[in-house]
Amino acid sequence: MVPTLPPNISMNTAWRPDMQFKDVIGQSAVKQRLIQSVRENHVSHAQLFLGPAGSGKLPLALAYAQYILCPNRTETDSCGVCPTCQKMQKLVHPDLHFVVPTATTKKIKSNPESDLFMEEWREYVIENKGYVDTSSWYTFLDVENKQGYMSVRDAASLLRKLSMKSYEGEYKIAIIWMAEKMRVDTANKLLKLLEEPPEKTVFLLIAEDGEELLATIKSRTALVKIPAIETNALEKALVERLSCQPNQAHDAAMISEGNWITACHSVQDSEEHKYFFTTFQQWMRLCFRAAYSELIDFSNNIKTIGREKQKELLEYGLRIVRNSLLFNNNLAEIVMLPNDEKVFNSKFAPFVNPANLAQIAELLEEAMRQIERNGYAPLIFTDVSFKMVGLLKKK
Ligand SMILES: [Zn+2]
Repeated sequence: MVPTLPPNISMNTAWRPDMQFKDVIGQSAVKQRLIQSVRENHVSHAQLFLGPAGSGKLPLALAYAQYILCPNRTETDSCGVCPTCQKMQKLVHPDLHFVVPTATTKKIKSNPESDLFMEEWREYVIENKGYVDTSSWYTFLDVENKQGYMSVRDAASLLRKLSMKSYEGEYKIAIIWMAEKMRVDTANKLLKLLEEPPEKTVFLLIAEDGEELLATIKSRTALVKIPAIETNALEKALVERLSCQPNQAHDAAMISEGNWITACHSVQDSEEHKYFFTTFQQWMRLCFRAAYSELIDFSNNIKTIGREKQKELLEYGLRIVRNSLLFNNNLAEIVMLPNDEKVFNSKFAPFVNPANLAQIAELLEEAMRQIERNGYAPLIFTDVSFKMVGLLKKK
């Protein structure tokens, strides 16, 4: 019972790299609101795009930035062809600045900061049409098991750049992607910028975990809530962009919970998705059997898959646990999973009950936090395994 490495994920790159509003999947209400703000000259100088992974926060921010800067914008979108739009689409416009989480790599051995990785960032964002997440970004950078962050050097560099006059005489736009990865000193430095913003500057902060953001940052930004993508919009995009069969698109849209990145993965590499299922299933079977020595082997082997995948495995487990509640309350029909996983989940559900539900969920969540804090995976997984053996017996 050894977890094997999941296959690499490859995104389909067949469709054009445009990143205008028309290329953003679903999200029509948000688009409308953003377009309106420009047309009515009410662009707030600091905005927080908060929403789940894969909902299109960065594509929306990029389309918005391009719309703000394009001199030939129409009522619904930027023109897409003027020199400004062309520079925006290549992410090389001199008035567009990025701050992104980074870590040391083989190339940058110390003091990582966004500016040192801009070439990689552009390539990565364009390749993925803006639909990006930290897990694949870290894989792209090859940071190995490290967690990315934004250092105070990032804030200092941004301050320097924004204090200069804009190149093209219009707005300067700073996109801070995954703002929850800012360290406290970084956030405090940025806060000064938000409080006394340079003229004609728009800050677009993107975040997935609002809890992790400093309250002061939240209070200085206008919240733009980005919901998960509607299932039918996802389905349509899978058919159009990845040439999926309608039934395949339907299945992928159902299991991806409004996350385009997950939807693509499940279509292009169903093995990748199946990996978490089979691994979690194997793991729980060992727990049911109280097979302690095999659980230790399992936990030792789990270190080979890396931190991001370890977290995803725990997250998958959390989902199965939450779904169990639905099964136990006769709501099986709203569980969004492929058939074989649904069967497994229905068999697992009876072991989750009011006496252990909160503890199991907390156990998995705490393990995710420890992985995030660079805890030693074999120890964390052994601890979870042994506690799980006891919890699953609780009536
Ligand atoms: Zn244009």
